[in-house]
Amino acid sequence: MDNALNIGITTTVPVELIFAAGRRAVDLNNIFIGDENPAALVELAERAGFPQSTCAWIKGIYGAIRQHGIREVIGVVEGDCAETGALLEILQSEGVRVIPFAFPHSRATKDLRREIDRLADSLGVTYEAAEAEKKKLDELRLLGRKIDEAAATGDGVESNLLFDSLLAMSDFFGEPEKCRELLQANLSKITKENVGAKIRLGCVGVPPILPDLWDLCENLGARVAYQEIPRQFSRIDGIELDLTESYREYTYPYDIFRRLEEIVKMVETRRLNGIIHYVQSFCHRQLHDRLLRERLRLPILTVEGDRPGNIDGRTLTRIEAFVEQLG
Ligand code: SF4
Repeated sequence: MDNALNIGITTTVPVELIFAAGRRAVDLNNIFIGDENPAALVELAERAGFPQSTCAWIKGIYGAIRQHGIREVIGVVEGDCAETGALLEILQSEGVRVIPFAFPHSRATKDLRREIDRLADSLGVTYEAAEAEKKKLDELRLLGRKIDEAAATGDGVESNLLFDSLLAMSDFFGEPEKCRELLQANLSKITKENVGAKIRLGCVGVPPILPDLWDLCENLGARVAYQEIPRQFSRIDGIELDLTESYREYTYPYDIFRRLEEIVKMVETRRLNGIIHYVQSFCHRQLHDRLLRERLRLPILTVEGDRPGNIDGRTLTRIEAFVEQLG
């Protein structure tokens, strides 16, 4: 595989532009957490001078860039992470080509279109070519939507399967055909049978750095039927929209209020019994916990993670108690 084709992304961006340019999108979060030793990538960043008090996702992204020799990175400097700007400056100082992208706080169509056009120029593609690419990716998103709808209406979609399917669409593995195979395989694993009176959970907040969280929920008799942020990353809600509108309807990078509206709707339509609010150590988004608790009328458990690895004993006990309480 030609490494020069890879473009790292620090979070979801309009990947249609990358594919239209004949390049391969690489979600840096996915290659970090999918690494056989993600903790080592965090340590690599710390040896390079990243402080202990920096979020492990940021350090892991840096480690993944170094490990995989990524030479170009699109970083979202508005709407995602307060630390991305500094990360890009470090990367630039080390010779990585950085392309900033912003989801404008205004959420105005014209402002977002200006940003998309700017990114298109940087990649040497036209907006129209990206629209054509979107039509192709939307075929895959339709498969993802079927999986998500099955999770919404029944209990035949295992927690892991829903999470992996939605997250796969953040970068389509850089190879949409490979992603299609995964989605088709996952669709075939959905069982139509009622698997029992599972407790239905939703998970909101940034994706957990704890890979065993979904298995733990399943083992306790709970099924995660709503994955807020991976679902947003997938843009399955934007299939009927044009490129700009799809990313304008994307709730994650704008203010919390649209996110809250969406979560309230999902709690009702998916008949959720409880919510896990995942927060990351040293992340400014932890502040949203209060607003979630004020707005949502169902039990919420806030789970905090720091470094990649299995759930610690104290968190395990808290999750067990939460599920037991819901039961
Ligand atoms: S968890 Fe928070 S601090 Fe860490 S990368 Fe994501 S937005 Fe940034």
